[in-house]
Amino acid sequence: MTSTNPSYSRKKRLILVVEDNELNRELLCDLFEEDYRLMEAENGQIGLNLMREHSRELSLVLLDVYMPVCDGFEFLRLRQQDPVLEQIPVIVTTASNTMEDEIYALELGANDFVTKPYNYEVVKNRINNLIRLRETASILNQLERDTTTRLFSKEFFARYVRSTLQSNPDQRYDMICSDIESFKTMNDRYGRRTCDQYLRQLARALSAAIPGMVLSGRIGGDVFAFLVRHRQNRWAKILTPSLHSGIASNMVVKYGVVSNIDPAMEVSTICDRATLALKGIKGRYGVYVATYDDVLGDQQKKEHIIVESMERALEEGQFQVYFQPKHDLRMGVTGGAEALVRWNHPELGFVSPGVFIPIFERNGFIPRLDFYVWEQVCKQLQRSRELNLPVVPISVNVSRLDFDIPDLAERITAMADRNGVDHRLLHIELTESAYAENPRQISATMERLNAAGFLLELDDFGSGYSSLSVLGSLPLSVIKLDMSLIRQAASTENYNVLRFAIQLADGMRLKTVAEGVETADQVAALQVLGCDYIQGYYYSRPLPQEEFECYLLEERERWRTQSKNSPRRLKSS
Ligand code: C2E
Ligand code: CA
Ligand code: CA
Repeated sequence: MTSTNPSYSRKKRLILVVEDNELNRELLCDLFEEDYRLMEAENGQIGLNLMREHSRELSLVLLDVYMPVCDGFEFLRLRQQDPVLEQIPVIVTTASNTMEDEIYALELGANDFVTKPYNYEVVKNRINNLIRLRETASILNQLERDTTTRLFSKEFFARYVRSTLQSNPDQRYDMICSDIESFKTMNDRYGRRTCDQYLRQLARALSAAIPGMVLSGRIGGDVFAFLVRHRQNRWAKILTPSLHSGIASNMVVKYGVVSNIDPAMEVSTICDRATLALKGIKGRYGVYVATYDDVLGDQQKKEHIIVESMERALEEGQFQVYFQPKHDLRMGVTGGAEALVRWNHPELGFVSPGVFIPIFERNGFIPRLDFYVWEQVCKQLQRSRELNLPVVPISVNVSRLDFDIPDLAERITAMADRNGVDHRLLHIELTESAYAENPRQISATMERLNAAGFLLELDDFGSGYSSLSVLGSLPLSVIKLDMSLIRQAASTENYNVLRFAIQLADGMRLKTVAEGVETADQVAALQVLGCDYIQGYYYSRPLPQEEFECYLLEERERWRTQSKNSPRRLKSS
């Protein structure tokens, strides 16, 4: 990331107008010459050439759909094939408000629309929003390397692994994940600075010493991942303590290996498998390496049990809904909550949603569980109202698979109405990555939900490769900043990223929720940055229904006593 301050400078941005009708072109140029520098092209072909020529400084393209030589659709198709041009946002101008053209253009990667005749304010705002979005996204995406170890960050490691696998179909690879035993204890004992130093040294030592090294990344606090050229069965002989001798005498490093990885598999799944193998040898003296094949059996058995028992679990009410408060920083009280599902399995004990949700997403069970959770949330809202308990909006998670239900919006509406729930009290959380897979269906459903009065929250913002189109295309009210953004904000560069994300949301009049906040320092920083809500262990873990009600009641009591003592002032708890 550059150290220059990338806040939105006042320098005039360069815009390309691609339009065959000369009158229209002139009209646009007249309208905007005060605010932007303009370039003109009379057809798509010339437009693409200009785009290539000026790709570094070009901020946005205004594109007509119907033109001779190379029309707008062809233009978008060609742009999609070029990763550099794809990063430059395009607003399509359509004459009549024909939905089909718009949807088609959206599918081809257009970022927004305006309809003719142009309304100056509308077009200007859309242009400015998109330019800001793109500039912020590119800042977000510049976090290519982890600042402590200089290894690739998790997201970039995944991207580069993917492209390496794709470009070398004949080469076979292994994935190795390393983990330091009891790193937390080391941190407490030696302090963060020293341990960061150890991490840095270890990253350097392993990257240099492991044979066949291709790519290395930091995928967790003390977890590194290495893509290496495949070797037959000999990792246990190579991955020994001698690789890092001299760093810290009592440091124990363990390795999980996925051998001969399947190039079609998601990189995150491959890393999950390697870390799963790792977990199996945690704390086992003298054992440093485990391969995924060893644990595969156990894993499959567990998955089998989960799938076998899910129907019954739903019928018997084994799934429980917990509520995690969202603290309103300005008011100093709880301003909402997120519903999170929990499963206490009769045989397996507590199973994390991080384990069973992906399984249910694969086997198609998730919509049934989600409907169950939403119904429980509606009942909870109804109960709070009837018993005069404190009421706050509750958000529910929707999974990408739920959008395959064509009347999803209508069914949620009916469910809320059946339980007498004020629609404004039910928020919908949609994860950023889901949108990219099915933009058409998701936009349509979200528009209907929004029209019915439900508020939409964009989940996990900043957790992966942030796309601009999602922010422009959904009727959002809230952005949830992913935990990774908060965690990484300890360094100055990353702090700026967090700041821009909050500024961006603010500029779009969206509220922000920071997730996974655990420390007072993080709260203080977020408060300075103007974040609206905080969700995280610092205020509360997800709570079972009764404890959640107590939490709200106690808060109400505190609030009442406080306002009795000093009327008109509400102090933060
Ligand atoms: P999510 O929607 O991003 O939920 C936030 C996760 O962060 C929750 O994990 C929550 O317990 C955890 N968390 C909250 N504060 C902190 C903190 O301060 N520190 C740390 N380390 N973690 C914190 P959980 O409950 O395990 O859920 C994991 C994921 O499972 C959720 O991520 C969500 O994607 C999915 N999920 C949970 N419940 C449901 C559900 O009912 N339906 C669907 N479709 N997905 C669900
Ligand atoms: Ca969520
Ligand atoms: Ca989240």
